[in-house]
Amino acid sequence: EKERSLNFIEHIIEEDLGEGFPKDKLRFRFPPEPNGYLHIGHASSICLNFGLGLDYKAPVNLRFDDTNPEKEEQEYVDAIKKDVEWLGFRWDRECYASDYFQQLYDWAVVLIEKGKAYVDSQTSEAIAAQKGTPVRAGEESPYRDRSAAENLDLFRRMRAGEFESGTHVLRAKIDMASSNMLMRDPVMYRIMHKHHHRTGNEWPIYPLYDWTHGESDYIEQVSHSFCTLEFAMHRELYEWFLDNVYETGRVKPKQREFARRNLSHTVVSKRKLLQLVKEGVVSGWDDPRMPTISGLRRRGYTPESIRNFTGTIGIAKRENLIDVSLLEFCIREDLNKKAPRVMGVLDPVKVVITNYPEGEEEWLDAENNPEDAGAGSRKVPFSREIYIEREDFREEANRKFFRLKLGGEVRLKNAYIIKAEEAVKDAGGHITEIRCTYDPLSKSGSGTEESMRKVKGTLHWVSVKHAVEAEIRIYDRLFTDPEPDGHKDRDFMEFVNPDSLEITTGYLEPSLENVVEGEQYQFQRLGYFCVDKDSGSGKLVFNKTVGLRDSWAK
Ligand code: ATP
Ligand code: MG
Ligand code: MG
Repeated sequence: EKERSLNFIEHIIEEDLGEGFPKDKLRFRFPPEPNGYLHIGHASSICLNFGLGLDYKAPVNLRFDDTNPEKEEQEYVDAIKKDVEWLGFRWDRECYASDYFQQLYDWAVVLIEKGKAYVDSQTSEAIAAQKGTPVRAGEESPYRDRSAAENLDLFRRMRAGEFESGTHVLRAKIDMASSNMLMRDPVMYRIMHKHHHRTGNEWPIYPLYDWTHGESDYIEQVSHSFCTLEFAMHRELYEWFLDNVYETGRVKPKQREFARRNLSHTVVSKRKLLQLVKEGVVSGWDDPRMPTISGLRRRGYTPESIRNFTGTIGIAKRENLIDVSLLEFCIREDLNKKAPRVMGVLDPVKVVITNYPEGEEEWLDAENNPEDAGAGSRKVPFSREIYIEREDFREEANRKFFRLKLGGEVRLKNAYIIKAEEAVKDAGGHITEIRCTYDPLSKSGSGTEESMRKVKGTLHWVSVKHAVEAEIRIYDRLFTDPEPDGHKDRDFMEFVNPDSLEITTGYLEPSLENVVEGEQYQFQRLGYFCVDKDSGSGKLVFNKTVGLRDSWAK
């Protein structure tokens, strides 16, 4: 059926189907906790789960794992939905773990009645102190043998809000000597008098992740629950909880783990990203330097480029660090096909074409995208005074400098061949103007012999009189270290790059005067740029998405 080779996750599914699991019972989910914005690591999980849904024509739920009201907010729910949709995926059902609070409570009561859960009235410190170590069994709580009746009474009163936060917990009664520490009577509920973004003040007790996740999968009849490797040890508990509520004939979800994806020169952890936002290192979750989906979107990344990136890195069993240059490769490749070419000068020096008639102008044809035959062309104005990049001119240079030098010729893209005659300087020796002559017969596309004449360099340029000014934001890596959170003795914040944002003024061809947020362009020879949300009402703002691998003129 499938053409490419299967990854190990797909093998698991194929094996289950081979053993008779009905294909129409396949169901997946993507289960974010709404405690922050999604990042590029989540994109891997989204593409995995929704990709499986598409491949197997199976439904995929978007499930909010909202069991910790201390950290969760509606703002994050909204942002997550927007990002998943923007990536191009549609969920079957929008679910919330908090919708299952009553069912989870009822099942907890069943566990208590079966003698499989008890109320522990010790402090969390005392409970932690009894956990033992991987080689030494834990100690049983003095409350472990409370009667079912007493447990039920206490649990009901916990739920009724009679107790202070932290005074009691409900624990599963499993095995304090288990070699798996997570099986040593894990906490299922804690008392927390906190407002929840969906259930309000209805619940003074909140279920913990392990008790919630598998049961939510079961309620939704998720067949395969894929999570990251740190949950491998939790699988035993996931199954223990499920076995206690399972009814024959229903699907028993299967948890399997894959490796978390890490990207170089950044951090992919909502907690750490939140710290960057809170401490003002970045302007917000969608700062174009952030590895969040919203930051990447604002930076100019396309959904296709992110999907291609996750597809290229694939699914792995072991963690590793993916170089951010691979992500950059993916966006460059996509924008090369899609982005119209335009001209803009970011560090201008004026060129005066002395033999071009004063006061005159002409509008020249410029191809919009050589990679896209259907993209058409536009007109760009040419006149006696133009800007070129300051670094594209040298008074003297060796033969390898294919740009403009005194006495030398270059072609102006879409226009004429010019020759530099003189550099005008101010008192400090700074070049203020380059005086050139042009060859009137060399106009690009005019068909004359001169228009075909080969000169080594081609430069981008903008007519001074017609140029529109724009704020250009140029980004560097947010961290100077490839793995800022990979150091035992140093905090990731120590590696923040102080020069990750440079703001400059660009002079752009007038076709860009009325651009709107999100539009993307290739500024020829400079890179890909997109219109920022701060653009508007007389002010243009562009973000540099990524530079060009090659420029068409060196
Ligand atoms: P964070 O530390 O950033 O909060 P998390 O795992 O706690 O990450 P969740 O909201 O629980 O964040 O994640 C939703 C899903 O995305 C989970 O299934 C999780 O395993 C997966 N996921 C999170 N981070 C990554 C990553 N870096 N690579 C691959 N999958 C990830
Ligand atoms: Mg988390
Ligand atoms: Mg999580």
